[in-house]
Amino acid sequence: MSNTVSRADFDQVMVPNYGPAGFIPVKGLGSRVWDQDGREFVDLAGGIAVNSLGHCHPELVAALTEQAGKLWHVSNVFTNEPALKLANLLVEKTFAERVFFCNSGGEANEAAFKLARKYAHDNFGADKNQILSCVNSFHGRTLFTVSVGGQPKYTEGFGPVPGGISHFEFNNIESLKAAISDKTCAVVIEPVQGESGVLPADPAFLKAARELCDAHNALLIFDEVQSGMGRTGALYAYQQYGVVPDILSSAKGIGGGFPIGAMLTTEKVAKSFGIGSHGSTYGGNPLACAVAHKVVSIISSPEVLAGVEARHQRLVTGLSAINAKYNVFQTVRGKGLLIGCVLTDAYQGRAREFLKAAEKQQLMILVAGLSVLRLAPSLVISDADIDEGLKRLDAAVAELVSAK
Ligand SMILES: *Cc1c(COP(=O)(O)O)cnc(C)c1O
Repeated sequence: MSNTVSRADFDQVMVPNYGPAGFIPVKGLGSRVWDQDGREFVDLAGGIAVNSLGHCHPELVAALTEQAGKLWHVSNVFTNEPALKLANLLVEKTFAERVFFCNSGGEANEAAFKLARKYAHDNFGADKNQILSCVNSFHGRTLFTVSVGGQPKYTEGFGPVPGGISHFEFNNIESLKAAISDKTCAVVIEPVQGESGVLPADPAFLKAARELCDAHNALLIFDEVQSGMGRTGALYAYQQYGVVPDILSSAKGIGGGFPIGAMLTTEKVAKSFGIGSHGSTYGGNPLACAVAHKVVSIISSPEVLAGVEARHQRLVTGLSAINAKYNVFQTVRGKGLLIGCVLTDAYQGRAREFLKAAEKQQLMILVAGLSVLRLAPSLVISDADIDEGLKRLDAAVAELVSAK
């Protein structure tokens, strides 16, 4: 067996559900990444809003290695100190009174949806089981969470899918009003829709959702897997909107690159998950929780949160300058360091070509759908790295535009 691997191995040994880039990253530091050939990339993708403090942040490396020498896993038959410390911190910093740990965003949402069903069942009866979510939303890839997510392309061919799920239009209060009823047990919303194109919710929409949920005894769930953990400039986006959910799902940035998910809720709602009603072997794993505790401590500091807005301005100014030269974006939208550049009509459906052009310039970016470029860099990316990233994006766009 050969001890070296290349991108070609992917097609030979991996299930073909991904189509990764042509290079293989082997090392990262801050917002720079190096591939097998030693080529250096600027990272404005942040592992899809996961590497919230960049690559190999020294304090995260220290937290992980310190815990690695102490205790890796005990299961939930026993509790552990890192999990309790992280839960205490989340309770201190948010609306939450109770926390459930798991390993990913999909699992955090799976727990949220199951809890909402169980809570309605316990308090109002089995008929109150309808979950409402937004068209074009994304909540994960388990069969329940893809079914709740409003993107039919992700459930096609996987049926039969779970029932009791309906959809309404994002940012459309009338659409939610028409869909909600006393059979609704939960309404789930991403405060900033991520995968479907970086679309922030209107404040009035979230406020109306809260009021409608209250009027119908339904729980309001915010999926903050992508918008949370400082991404928008607050620890969680709901804090900027001033609308408090009953359940919040968190993952991606909370582990800074170590897999962990969390579901936050109130004591009253949490009661419906009695002993044995739900679980996860790895949930609350000491390694994951030790790292996440450090991530949350750093991100919740006023300096880091304030720095997100400053970096947003710097990026958006640079993106406008690129657009003034090449006229490729119809709008640049988003909040904090979750930014979407919506391509003009001439480039509709061609976001992946920009991704490829960026790769040639040694720049890592993301797409959100077919026609939006997405940036989700480290929350502590340096000005120099932002500027270098923008310079490389300019070169990528220049090449793509001239090749037209
Ligand atoms: C990424 C994402 C998920 C799914 O998280 P996984 O960790 O991939 O399971 C769920 N909801 C939102 C809003 C996301 O962006």
